[in-house]
Amino acid sequence: MDLGGKTALVTGASRGIGAAIARRLGAAGAHVAVNYSGSRDAAEALVAEIGSAGGRAFAVRADVSTLAGIEAMFSACDAAFGEGPNLDILINNAGVGRGGRDASLKAGSEDLFDEMFAVNVKGPHFVTQAALPRLRDGGRIVNIGSMSGKIGQPFASGYAMTKRAIQSLTFSTALAVAKRGITCNCIAPGAVATDFIAGLRAQEGWDEATAKHTPMGRLGEPEDIAGAVMMLLGEDARWVTGQIIEASGGLAL
Ligand code: NAP
Repeated sequence: MDLGGKTALVTGASRGIGAAIARRLGAAGAHVAVNYSGSRDAAEALVAEIGSAGGRAFAVRADVSTLAGIEAMFSACDAAFGEGPNLDILINNAGVGRGGRDASLKAGSEDLFDEMFAVNVKGPHFVTQAALPRLRDGGRIVNIGSMSGKIGQPFASGYAMTKRAIQSLTFSTALAVAKRGITCNCIAPGAVATDFIAGLRAQEGWDEATAKHTPMGRLGEPEDIAGAVMMLLGEDARWVTGQIIEASGGLAL
């Protein structure tokens, strides 16, 4: 895919799925804003990696759970991309979950619940709000949801709620931008081998059990999710909007 001349912002791109998406975007020729909250070295290393492969990227530190952070992030993007409508691709990827086990219906703190809603729900909502006037007609928005947003998860009820909310945001955004030829879709990953689920994976037998109940027989890799995102970015995907697309190796079929 040729994304030469396009600009892209990926939230939470220092590690994991966001980093894999930023790498693909850079390789396809897009000028990529690599957002992160704390992992400066990882973000800078990714920018350097994209640059040495012939692409263009810059790192931007911002906490997307706050309006001040979102404003600072877009100021940095405006400085790099130029004023006026300057954005072609927005990937709302940043998310927290603490392995999914801590905000259950049995236990789970108010602080964690609030943090998850701030990063996973408030963040994408206000990032999208700030992005809309900057997006060029024909642009693309992809929200990273989760299979947790589809199924009941008593052991991770708070996290699952945030990912259901992302589906709702996807529908509303798709309607808000449809007349401009901009699409908004959601990719819902199953378990993906990143730091995000390190706590779960540390439990003996967890990887094997997860692979066993995944029809395709393994955990996802960040590149599996990046590939699904790329599918939505080209001209051929122009008529696909408001969809929740599962990238999960067939989970919950
Ligand atoms: P990860 O490896 O833990 O990476 C999370 C990324 O989000 C990091 O780049 C982190 O930045 C960034 N981030 C966290 N809080 C932020 C904030 N307040 N502001 C800006 N950036 C922030 O997680 P991942 O597995 O790649 O997950 C990415 C997305 O996929 C999340 O939305 C997650 O819910 C979803 N997902 C993951 C899985 C899975 O099994 N891994 C499954 C389904 C859905 P720093 O490095 O600077 O902290």
